[in-house]
Amino acid sequence: MLAKHCPICDRLISHSDVICPDCRNSFEKELFDNFMTRCNNCGYPLVADLYECPHCREFHNFYVYSLSPYSSYFSRRILEFYKFNGKKSLSKFIAQCFDKHINDTDAVVTWVPCSPESLKKRGWDQMKEIALKMKNKAVCLLLNSGISVQQKTLTKEQRMTVSQNKYLLSENNAAMLSKTTPIILIDDVMTTGNTLYACYLLLKNYGFTDVRCMTLLCEL
Ligand SMILES: [Zn+2]
Ligand SMILES: [Zn+2]
Repeated sequence: MLAKHCPICDRLISHSDVICPDCRNSFEKELFDNFMTRCNNCGYPLVADLYECPHCREFHNFYVYSLSPYSSYFSRRILEFYKFNGKKSLSKFIAQCFDKHINDTDAVVTWVPCSPESLKKRGWDQMKEIALKMKNKAVCLLLNSGISVQQKTLTKEQRMTVSQNKYLLSENNAAMLSKTTPIILIDDVMTTGNTLYACYLLLKNYGFTDVRCMTLLCEL
């Protein structure tokens, strides 16, 4: 059998591992749950219970469970190695991290689809790879229309509209599920939240009653 290496530090690992124990430890130390509480309503990480939740102020009942801060060194490295350094095996590690926070076996996992350009460039959709490796059933519910606009010069409202036009619901796949099926929507990073919220709204507006999101990183 071929020797297996940690995709992050290149150390030899056992065949049952995805990354080495040291890298796993470094990653686990960075998790929000080690040093922050969460908003009861939306899951957003808060410094203390006393603060008004900024995420609740901006969005309406938009539940997002993010694992680590965007500023964290190791978690971001995992994502960068996965997306840009061709370490595709990390999809399994990220899938396992998400799995730990899902205890509803009936829930269906879906993902924010990558753009047609990056699909062409990379050859695979990074969030779909992760969704397919998660324990819950994965169903493709969203499509990326390929519309892309430089968002920097736009107002907040314009950005939201652009994000909303960028994604489409896959109605054929959605029609195969009951509206009460819990949906878990995954993405890699939440920054403004606009992309994820646009996708969330497509699912909610279609009629799914229980839609929750998860991301690996969150920019606070
Ligand atoms: Zn390692
Ligand atoms: Zn909140």
